[in-house]
Amino acid sequence: MPKAFLIDTTRCTACRGCQIACKEWHDLPAVPTKQRGSHQNPPDLNPYNLKIVRFHEHLDERGRVLWNFFPDQCRHCVKPICATMANKAVPGSMIKDEKSGAVLVTEKCREMDEVGIRTVIKSCPYNIPRYDAEKKMLVKCDMCIDRVQVGLEPMCVKTCPTGTMAFGEREEMLTLAKKRLAD
Ligand code: SF4
Ligand code: SF4
Ligand code: SF4
Repeated sequence: MPKAFLIDTTRCTACRGCQIACKEWHDLPAVPTKQRGSHQNPPDLNPYNLKIVRFHEHLDERGRVLWNFFPDQCRHCVKPICATMANKAVPGSMIKDEKSGAVLVTEKCREMDEVGIRTVIKSCPYNIPRYDAEKKMLVKCDMCIDRVQVGLEPMCVKTCPTGTMAFGEREEMLTLAKKRLAD
């Protein structure tokens, strides 16, 4: 049965442990950065940050600063439009793994031309895929498929100290989500 992530933003402290764990597991290098007036860093997903904790800072009606945090990554959609568009451009360039539900980019993606790449990137409603010019392919969260296939949790879920992130059978995650909403 396909798996799913549950992200309960009410528990997130924006420690960014998940963001760093993702980089470490995928052996992705640090990228030069700077302070831009926000604690969100880097400012967006990029080929070396497949996951990012987004910070939304705003004022409430009394003028107090409020922070909302959102750990952002691929949703591994039930019907992934990215894969539909990718496979129109180059058949087999993206797959949805039936067992885990992971939406994955394959080596075939290297055959995709610029128009195909742009089409896939634009098709994602969550603005997730990025183009890695060095690898010459689209990149995104892969659900830590190498871990999931041997019964381990994705690295970001394993690292989260607050229980913000959960991972498991889709039905179980839906039940847990309903329970959290009712609490
Ligand atoms: Fe869904 Fe976007 Fe992830 Fe594709 S890249 S599975 S469209 S969230
Ligand atoms: Fe990164 Fe793996 Fe989490 Fe995806 S599932 S965001 S690849 S650590
Ligand atoms: Fe939030 Fe957990 Fe990620 Fe920390 S590790 S930023 S608490 S989701």
